[in-house]
Amino acid sequence: MAACIFCKIIKGEIPAFKLFESEKVFAFLDIQPLSRGHALVIPKFHGEKLHDIPDDQLAELLPVAKNIAIACGAIDYNILQNNGKIAHQFVPHVSIPMIPKPNEEEGLVVSWPIQQTDMDKLKVLHAEIKAKM
Ligand SMILES: [Zn+2]
Repeated sequence: MAACIFCKIIKGEIPAFKLFESEKVFAFLDIQPLSRGHALVIPKFHGEKLHDIPDDQLAELLPVAKNIAIACGAIDYNILQNNGKIAHQFVPHVSIPMIPKPNEEEGLVVSWPIQQTDMDKLKVLHAEIKAKM
């Protein structure tokens, strides 16, 4: 996709601190890091959201994120996958950020607003989702 900043990085039209490249995957350091080693692993196949990417284009993403975590010495870290603006996706091209969490202050900060539910509601939801899989 011509206007996509990540596609431009893949093509080399925008410089990046490339960490890894294969036929299907590209990985580079985030230039607005939350912590040392914060990197992005992206499929070369352009798609805005995870469900836009064929399964075979996704298979290598997590192993590459894992290897970057190991290579930068991260002990605690988050692997993210955000879809949509309100879900904190900043570039409309699928990415898997690997964000080291060296201490309480640096790295990702997550809010986890638990909703009240009950087992009967979960049972209905479970049946609904399972029937579509
Ligand atoms: Zn793209």
